[in-house]
Order: sequence, then C-alpha cells, then structure tokens
Amino acid sequence: MERLKNIWLDGKFVPWNQATTHILTHGLHYGSSVFEGIRFYKTSNGPKIFRLNEHLKRFFYSARSLGLKIPYTQKTLTAACKKLVTKSGMKDGYLRPLAFYGVKNLSILPIGFPIRVALIPSLWPAKKNVLNICLSPYIRIHPQSTDVHAKIGGHYVNSIVALMDARKRGFDEVIFLDDRGYVAEGAVANVFMVKNGTIRTPKVRSILPGITRRTIIELVRREFKKRVIEKDILLSELLTADEVFFTGTAYEVTPIARIGTKRFAISSMTKRIRDSYTDVARGKLARYRSWLV
Ligand code: PMP
Repeated sequence: MERLKNIWLDGKFVPWNQATTHILTHGLHYGSSVFEGIRFYKTSNGPKIFRLNEHLKRFFYSARSLGLKIPYTQKTLTAACKKLVTKSGMKDGYLRPLAFYGVKNLSILPIGFPIRVALIPSLWPAKKNVLNICLSPYIRIHPQSTDVHAKIGGHYVNSIVALMDARKRGFDEVIFLDDRGYVAEGAVANVFMVKNGTIRTPKVRSILPGITRRTIIELVRREFKKRVIEKDILLSELLTADEVFFTGTAYEVTPIARIGTKRFAISSMTKRIRDSYTDVARGKLARYRSWLV
C-alpha cells in the first residue's frame, strides 16, 4: 500500500509509521470496528469528496449499533477529511474512516474500553469495467444476527469467505441470497436488474443500504423520470434480466456480464445510468453539486 504522508488518528495528523495500535486491540480480536469507504474525485474545481455527509452519517449510525461512542462531532470529522484530501496532494482517491474499540483486557464485552478513530487516505486502484460473478454458497448475514444495515468490520468475514470461494472458481465477485432465498447483494456492492425497461433492486432488509444505491435511485427518478422498484427478487427473476449491474463506492456502476453460466448484455440502460453517475460524481452536473464537498 502507498505510504501516504498523513493519517488522521485520534484527533491528530500523524505520519504513516505512527498510525499504529496495540496487539490487544479489541477491534482486532472480535471485529468490533466500523468503517466507511468514500471516494473523492477530480473536478474542474479541485478535488471533491462525494457524498461525504451521507457517509459520515452512516459511520455514526454504524458506531451507535455497536455502542461505540465516537468522541468527535460530524463537523470535526468533515473538517479533518477535507484537510486530509488537501494534505494528500491527490486529485482523486479514497478515504477510509475507521472507529474501533481499543485496549483494556480480553473481555468480549467492551465496557469502558477506549474508542479509537482514524481517517485514512489512499490511492484508488483501477477496477474492472465488467464483472463475472457467481452465486455464493454462503448466504448474507441473517438480518437478526446483528444490525446488517451497519458497516461493521466483523460483517466482512461473510464477504471475505464468499470472495475467496468465488476467486477459486474463477469469478470476480458474488451474489448473496438472504436467509429466505431472495437476492441480497454482492460482497461489497448492491445489485440492480433491468428488464423490459423496468429497473429493480432488492429491498433494504438483508443488505447494506448503499449510498450509491440511493444515489442511483434518485438519479433514475430525476434524470430518467422512472421509478426504481424495490422488491423481493428471486434468483430465477434476476436471471431473466436483460441487464444486471452492481453499485457501490468501489464499483460505482459496473455491468455484470455473467452470473455463473448465464450471460447478460451490457446495453443502453446500464450505460446511461453509469454515465450519469460518473458525471455527477465528477461535478459535471451543476444541480448535484451539493453532493460534493
Ligand atoms: N453492500 C456491501 C456489503 C458493501 O460493503 C458496500 C460498500 N460499502 C455496498 C453494499 C455499497 O455501499 P456504498 O454504495 O455505500 O458504497
């Protein structure tokens, strides 16, 4: 990983080598961390952080779901994110807010544990333009096992084992079903299908309610005068789609060429949605500039 000069840790900008934690860190042992993934993009007005407010809001929501009291306000974190982007000197890249329980003892229940907070800038690695995915043999975490709408570190064990299995079988990514057998999402993305001109996506139940998902639903409504249908979708329904795509901070809007042996076209609707998302994120559409910080 690129050793960027500055990381914001517990209220201070520190060099890479000092952004460390002790081996007894609770978050390391038990997955008791929360995080975000945020992109910033080059625009004609300098680098802009995309949907920072929404990401930080979800960061605080995730923290609350783990009883983690972040000892900073959203305003303080916003200012720190802006400073980090400036200090990084990068025109576009990625920001990783992270909060976790620190060191006290080996107890599972983190009562009276210190809370650590970091903001980590990173370069953005290029991603594939088209994905081949498979059905995961694992199901998405049961929505009553924990708060699945929170972005909790420990949840990602579900994504890790599924992705490892997919890579072994030669696929880029996965589609998870939920506990009832309905389509949930990818390992780090939400899924949409297009059929006969209608756009559908799984309801918010067993999925992480993606900020990109919400952005696309709004863009489709405002730009294409269409409503995205949020519903329970069976795998058999997904496989009859004309087009399928993933959305997420990492993938933005990325078409899916194949689910298992079933191939999909990459047609006009996915391309139109992708182009409009790209324009909005890069500040090319004035009416969405409020989404850029
Ligand atoms: N689902 C999961 C499990 C994810 O990790 C992500 C990435 N945060 C998403 C969906 C997409 O969310 P967002 O659009 O907010 O990046």
